[in-house]
Amino acid sequence: MTTTVSAKRLSTRYLSAERVAEIVRRKGIGNCIAGVASYIHHDFLRWHDFEKCARVAHHSDVGVIELMPVSDARSYAFKYVNGHPSNHRFNLPTVMAFGVLADVETGTPDLVSELTLTTAIRTAAMSAVAARALARDNVRSMALIGNGAQSEFQALAFHHLLGVQRFHLFDLDAAATRKLAANLTRMALDFACFDSVRDAVRGCDIVTTVTAAKTKAAVLTADMIEPGMHINAVGGDCPGKTELHADVLRLGPVFCEFEPQSRIEGDMQQMPADFPVTELWQVLAGRALGRTAADQVTIFDSVGFALEDYSALRYMRDLAQELGMGEELSLIPALEDPKNLFGYIPAEAPAAKAARKAPAEVI
Ligand code: NAD
Repeated sequence: MTTTVSAKRLSTRYLSAERVAEIVRRKGIGNCIAGVASYIHHDFLRWHDFEKCARVAHHSDVGVIELMPVSDARSYAFKYVNGHPSNHRFNLPTVMAFGVLADVETGTPDLVSELTLTTAIRTAAMSAVAARALARDNVRSMALIGNGAQSEFQALAFHHLLGVQRFHLFDLDAAATRKLAANLTRMALDFACFDSVRDAVRGCDIVTTVTAAKTKAAVLTADMIEPGMHINAVGGDCPGKTELHADVLRLGPVFCEFEPQSRIEGDMQQMPADFPVTELWQVLAGRALGRTAADQVTIFDSVGFALEDYSALRYMRDLAQELGMGEELSLIPALEDPKNLFGYIPAEAPAAKAARKAPAEVI
């Protein structure tokens, strides 16, 4: 009897930061955000296919380093990501990341990719997927509170996927707002700069908070929120790190990505354990209600979930294949006999052999 074993190739594709930037340039940033949003939507509808867990976080006084794993029957993904709000002191970004997509059948790492740029794209895509399900119709304006690395991506996602036409900008750091203003000008997007959060959010359909500070901040207070607003809270994503005053969370239904993780890390960490919250996938799948009235306030308490990175890695892998981009990485030894790992080490050169007089000392 013969057994047929399907052929598996040992090959790991590597996408550097430069390569991903080039892929995004060639495809167009709006198309990439839309593409990742559609992969996220698709994967959220397959919610029960995935083995999920809250991310594993290692905290220090100044930041956090996290591992974010998730898998289905076909692929396993993880992301390494940090959050260090004071990193600008060293001229480094607050958030830096890379990740892996692996074949579940063999454990072969199929893709190793940068995820700093990709995280900004996937976070913006996730925000837009949530807002499409939760915000009222015909949104036109969005306040962007926090004008750092993520902010342009948020603006583009809401412009391309929801039709937002005008952005109200505020950051404690005026230089960050100038940077965002310059980039929005380059993209021909309409905006205005404000001197306070209160002034920036007034009259907006959507309020996105994407600030970074390792503290229990209350960037938004309940008296700033108007009927019908959708709040996209992105920056409160760690124990002891919030953006919304607790009263904001009482203004309307709260939605999250993966409840066990969000209760620890989201703005809802301030609320009691039985505080009602709905996982977004349920709304996308038509199993739970989203917004029920145009004047209702809706809140997406985003923290970033491993499944979004799984979707983004899949998207980048597919795009890299389509565009023929990325390098082959020699990450795992290619063995003629998989049991002869030792044989992979080149034979010692005769000179080195002769020079070796005595066995190595064991200390
Ligand atoms: P960044 O450091 O580049 O920018 C953050 C900006 O927030 C800075 O310009 C800072 O001056 C400003 N800021 C801080 N406190 C403020 C306040 N009270 N009011 C107004 N502005 C304030 O960081 P980034 O890469 O843009 O990330 C922003 C936040 O988003 C971080 O907290 C990060 O952890 C979080 N994040 C969340 C997700 C997610 O999936 N939910 C993904 C990526 C990043």
